[in-house]
Amino acid sequence: MHILVVEDEPKLANALRQGLEDEGYQVSVARSGEEGFYLLYSDHFDLLMLDVMLPGRSGLEILGRLRQNGVGIPVLLVTAKDSIDDRVGGLDAGADDYIVKPFAFPELLARVRAMLRRGGQDKPIARMSIANLIVDTAARSVFRAGKQLELTTREFELLEYLMRNRGSVVSREMLARDVWKETTRATPIDNVIDVHVARLRRKIDEGFEAKLLHTVRGVGFILREDQA
Ligand code: CA
Repeated sequence: MHILVVEDEPKLANALRQGLEDEGYQVSVARSGEEGFYLLYSDHFDLLMLDVMLPGRSGLEILGRLRQNGVGIPVLLVTAKDSIDDRVGGLDAGADDYIVKPFAFPELLARVRAMLRRGGQDKPIARMSIANLIVDTAARSVFRAGKQLELTTREFELLEYLMRNRGSVVSREMLARDVWKETTRATPIDNVIDVHVARLRRKIDEGFEAKLLHTVRGVGFILREDQA
Protein backbone atom coordinates (compact mmCIF):
# COMPACT_ATOMS: atom_id res chain seq x y z
CA MET A 1 0.00 0.00 0.00
CA HIS A 2 1.43 3.33 -1.10
CA ILE A 3 0.60 6.47 0.87
CA LEU A 4 1.26 10.03 -0.23
CA VAL A 5 1.76 12.46 2.64
CA VAL A 6 1.46 16.16 1.78
CA GLU A 7 2.88 18.00 4.79
CA ASP A 8 5.07 21.09 4.87
CA GLU A 9 6.40 20.74 8.42
CA PRO A 10 9.60 18.69 8.03
CA LYS A 11 9.55 17.22 11.53
CA LEU A 12 6.00 16.00 11.27
CA ALA A 13 6.54 14.80 7.71
CA ASN A 14 9.55 12.75 8.76
CA ALA A 15 7.78 11.33 11.79
CA LEU A 16 4.83 10.30 9.62
CA ARG A 17 7.08 8.72 7.04
CA GLN A 18 9.00 6.80 9.68
CA GLY A 19 5.93 5.67 11.58
CA LEU A 20 4.04 4.57 8.48
CA GLU A 21 7.04 2.80 7.00
CA ASP A 22 7.46 0.92 10.28
CA GLU A 23 3.94 -0.37 9.72
CA GLY A 24 4.92 -1.66 6.30
CA TYR A 25 3.46 1.09 4.12
CA GLN A 26 5.34 2.59 1.23
CA VAL A 27 5.44 6.36 1.83
CA SER A 28 6.12 9.36 -0.38
CA VAL A 29 6.24 12.86 1.06
CA ALA A 30 5.45 16.11 -0.71
CA ARG A 31 6.20 19.44 0.97
CA SER A 32 3.74 21.50 -1.04
CA GLY A 33 0.51 21.10 -2.94
CA GLU A 34 2.29 21.50 -6.26
CA GLU A 35 4.71 18.73 -5.44
CA GLY A 36 1.81 16.61 -4.25
CA PHE A 37 -0.02 17.11 -7.53
CA TYR A 38 3.03 16.18 -9.48
CA LEU A 39 3.55 12.96 -7.51
CA LEU A 40 -0.12 12.00 -7.67
CA TYR A 41 -0.05 12.12 -11.44
CA SER A 42 3.26 10.34 -11.78
CA ASP A 43 2.71 7.35 -9.52
CA HIS A 44 -0.01 5.16 -8.06
CA PHE A 45 -1.16 5.82 -4.49
CA ASP A 46 -3.77 4.10 -2.33
CA LEU A 47 -4.26 6.93 0.13
CA LEU A 48 -3.58 10.65 0.30
CA MET A 49 -2.87 12.24 3.68
CA LEU A 50 -3.35 15.92 3.09
CA ASP A 51 -2.48 18.78 5.45
CA VAL A 52 -4.88 21.73 5.19
CA MET A 53 -2.41 24.46 6.14
CA LEU A 54 0.13 24.45 3.33
CA PRO A 55 2.18 27.22 1.75
CA GLY A 56 0.65 28.36 -1.53
CA ARG A 57 -2.48 26.42 -2.30
CA SER A 58 -4.25 25.06 0.78
CA GLY A 59 -5.11 21.42 1.21
CA LEU A 60 -8.76 22.24 0.61
CA GLU A 61 -8.00 23.87 -2.73
CA ILE A 62 -5.93 20.88 -3.73
CA LEU A 63 -8.65 18.47 -2.69
CA GLY A 64 -11.28 20.44 -4.60
CA ARG A 65 -9.15 20.44 -7.71
CA LEU A 66 -8.46 16.70 -7.48
CA ARG A 67 -12.12 15.81 -7.14
CA GLN A 68 -12.98 18.19 -9.99
CA ASN A 69 -10.49 16.30 -12.12
CA GLY A 70 -12.20 13.04 -11.25
CA VAL A 71 -9.40 11.72 -9.04
CA GLY A 72 -11.08 9.32 -6.63
CA ILE A 73 -8.21 8.47 -4.27
CA PRO A 74 -9.24 8.17 -0.59
CA VAL A 75 -8.23 11.39 1.18
CA LEU A 76 -7.50 11.78 4.89
CA LEU A 77 -7.46 15.46 5.73
CA VAL A 78 -5.18 16.69 8.50
CA THR A 79 -6.68 19.82 10.04
CA ALA A 80 -5.60 22.21 12.74
CA LYS A 81 -7.18 22.04 16.17
CA ASP A 82 -10.62 23.63 16.52
CA SER A 83 -10.94 24.44 12.89
CA ILE A 84 -14.49 23.27 12.36
CA ASP A 85 -14.73 25.20 9.10
CA ASP A 86 -11.86 23.18 7.68
CA ARG A 87 -13.44 19.91 8.71
CA VAL A 88 -16.83 20.75 7.25
CA GLY A 89 -15.24 22.33 4.18
CA GLY A 90 -13.00 19.32 3.80
CA LEU A 91 -15.82 16.81 3.86
CA ASP A 92 -17.80 19.01 1.47
CA ALA A 93 -14.79 19.17 -0.84
CA GLY A 94 -14.62 15.39 -0.98
CA ALA A 95 -12.40 14.25 1.91
CA ASP A 96 -13.19 10.74 3.15
CA ASP A 97 -12.10 11.36 6.73
CA TYR A 98 -10.16 13.86 8.79
CA ILE A 99 -7.89 13.87 11.79
CA VAL A 100 -7.17 16.84 14.05
CA LYS A 101 -3.64 17.99 14.93
CA PRO A 102 -2.07 17.14 17.31
CA PHE A 103 -3.08 13.50 16.99
CA ALA A 104 -1.86 10.28 18.56
CA PHE A 105 -0.11 8.05 16.08
CA PRO A 106 -2.17 4.92 16.92
CA GLU A 107 -5.31 6.87 16.10
CA LEU A 108 -3.86 7.88 12.78
CA LEU A 109 -2.96 4.28 12.00
CA ALA A 110 -6.48 3.14 12.86
CA ARG A 111 -7.93 5.73 10.46
CA VAL A 112 -5.51 4.73 7.73
CA ARG A 113 -6.30 1.03 8.12
CA ALA A 114 -10.04 1.71 8.08
CA MET A 115 -9.76 3.88 4.98
CA LEU A 116 -7.64 1.37 3.13
CA ARG A 117 -10.13 -1.37 3.98
CA ARG A 118 -13.04 0.68 2.67
CA GLY A 119 -11.00 2.33 0.00
CA GLY A 120 -9.64 0.91 -3.14
CA GLN A 121 -13.07 1.50 -4.57
CA ASP A 122 -12.55 4.59 -6.62
CA LYS A 123 -15.24 7.16 -6.36
CA PRO A 124 -15.01 8.58 -9.82
CA ILE A 125 -16.99 11.57 -10.89
CA ALA A 126 -19.45 10.15 -13.38
CA ARG A 127 -19.14 12.86 -15.99
CA MET A 128 -16.00 14.55 -17.17
CA SER A 129 -15.65 16.95 -20.04
CA ILE A 130 -13.23 19.03 -22.02
CA ALA A 131 -14.52 21.50 -24.59
CA ASN A 132 -17.53 19.69 -26.13
CA LEU A 133 -16.21 16.19 -25.45
CA ILE A 134 -18.05 14.42 -22.64
CA VAL A 135 -17.09 11.13 -21.03
CA ASP A 136 -19.75 9.48 -18.89
CA THR A 137 -17.96 6.81 -16.87
CA ALA A 138 -21.12 5.44 -15.28
CA ALA A 139 -22.85 4.83 -18.61
CA ARG A 140 -19.52 4.24 -20.36
CA SER A 141 -20.54 6.56 -23.16
CA VAL A 142 -18.75 9.35 -25.00
CA PHE A 143 -20.15 12.36 -26.78
CA ARG A 144 -18.54 14.98 -28.96
CA ALA A 145 -20.65 18.02 -29.78
CA GLY A 146 -23.72 16.10 -28.64
CA LYS A 147 -23.10 13.14 -30.94
CA GLN A 148 -22.42 9.76 -29.35
CA LEU A 149 -19.17 8.07 -30.37
CA GLU A 150 -18.63 4.33 -30.64
CA LEU A 151 -15.46 3.32 -28.82
CA THR A 152 -14.04 -0.10 -28.11
CA THR A 153 -13.50 -1.04 -24.46
CA ARG A 154 -9.77 -0.31 -24.70
CA GLU A 155 -10.35 3.00 -26.45
CA PHE A 156 -12.78 3.97 -23.74
CA GLU A 157 -10.31 3.07 -20.99
CA LEU A 158 -7.63 5.04 -22.77
CA LEU A 159 -9.86 8.08 -23.16
CA GLU A 160 -11.06 7.84 -19.56
CA TYR A 161 -7.46 7.82 -18.36
CA LEU A 162 -6.51 10.77 -20.54
CA MET A 163 -9.62 12.58 -19.35
CA ARG A 164 -8.80 12.04 -15.68
CA ASN A 165 -5.39 13.53 -16.40
CA ARG A 166 -6.62 16.19 -18.80
CA GLY A 167 -4.30 19.16 -19.02
CA SER A 168 -1.36 16.97 -17.96
CA VAL A 169 0.96 14.96 -20.17
CA VAL A 170 0.46 11.20 -19.94
CA SER A 171 3.49 9.11 -20.81
CA ARG A 172 3.49 5.77 -22.65
CA GLU A 173 4.84 4.23 -19.45
CA MET A 174 1.79 5.47 -17.52
CA LEU A 175 -0.55 4.10 -20.18
CA ALA A 176 1.27 0.77 -20.27
CA ARG A 177 1.03 0.43 -16.51
CA ASP A 178 -2.40 1.89 -15.77
CA VAL A 179 -4.45 1.12 -18.89
CA TRP A 180 -2.76 -1.98 -20.28
CA LYS A 181 -1.77 -3.21 -16.77
CA GLU A 182 1.59 -4.06 -18.21
CA THR A 183 3.86 -4.02 -15.16
CA THR A 184 7.01 -5.70 -16.40
CA ARG A 185 7.81 -4.41 -19.86
CA ALA A 186 6.64 -1.06 -21.12
CA THR A 187 8.65 -0.68 -24.29
CA PRO A 188 7.37 -3.56 -26.41
CA ILE A 189 3.78 -2.32 -26.26
CA ASP A 190 4.57 1.25 -27.37
CA ASN A 191 3.34 0.41 -30.87
CA VAL A 192 0.09 -0.96 -29.52
CA ILE A 193 -0.41 2.22 -27.53
CA ASP A 194 0.34 4.43 -30.53
CA VAL A 195 -2.12 2.54 -32.71
CA HIS A 196 -4.88 2.87 -30.11
CA VAL A 197 -4.14 6.57 -29.60
CA ALA A 198 -4.30 7.13 -33.36
CA ARG A 199 -7.67 5.34 -33.58
CA LEU A 200 -9.02 7.24 -30.60
CA ARG A 201 -7.85 10.51 -32.11
CA ARG A 202 -9.69 9.77 -35.35
CA LYS A 203 -12.87 9.05 -33.45
CA ILE A 204 -12.87 12.07 -31.17
CA ASP A 205 -11.11 14.73 -33.29
CA GLU A 206 -11.78 13.97 -36.96
CA GLY A 207 -14.06 16.54 -38.50
CA PHE A 208 -13.60 19.00 -35.65
CA GLU A 209 -11.55 22.13 -35.99
CA ALA A 210 -10.54 22.16 -32.33
CA LYS A 211 -8.28 19.17 -31.78
CA LEU A 212 -8.22 17.78 -28.25
CA LEU A 213 -5.82 14.85 -28.28
CA HIS A 214 -2.23 15.95 -28.85
CA THR A 215 1.06 14.13 -29.07
CA VAL A 216 3.90 15.62 -27.05
CA ARG A 217 6.97 14.47 -28.91
CA GLY A 218 9.27 12.25 -26.94
CA VAL A 219 7.04 12.46 -23.86
CA GLY A 220 3.54 11.15 -24.47
CA PHE A 221 0.03 12.48 -24.99
CA ILE A 222 -2.19 15.18 -23.59
CA LEU A 223 -5.86 15.94 -23.74
CA ARG A 224 -6.34 19.68 -23.85
CA GLU A 225 -8.21 22.37 -25.67
CA ASP A 226 -5.46 24.45 -27.18
CA GLN A 227 -3.13 23.42 -29.98
CA ALA A 228 0.07 21.65 -28.97
CA1 CA B 1 1.09 22.67 7.57
